[in-house]
Amino acid sequence: MQSVRRKVKCPTCGTMAVWDTANRWRPFCSERCKQLDLGAWSAGQYTIAENHPAEPNDSGAGD
Ligand SMILES: [Zn+2]
Repeated sequence: MQSVRRKVKCPTCGTMAVWDTANRWRPFCSERCKQLDLGAWSAGQYTIAENHPAEPNDSGAGD
């Protein structure tokens, strides 16, 4: 039997990245993508959807 490596889609570039302890950047495919994503977070380009309710006064002008 072959061991199936779990793969995840890199949130930054969409490349399939191996979800493994060997991939320290998971779920990203590379350090660059991780850094880019963190930069986007700090810039407020992303909305946290999990465990965080949306701002009630958000007019929806963005996104
Ligand atoms: Zn990537």
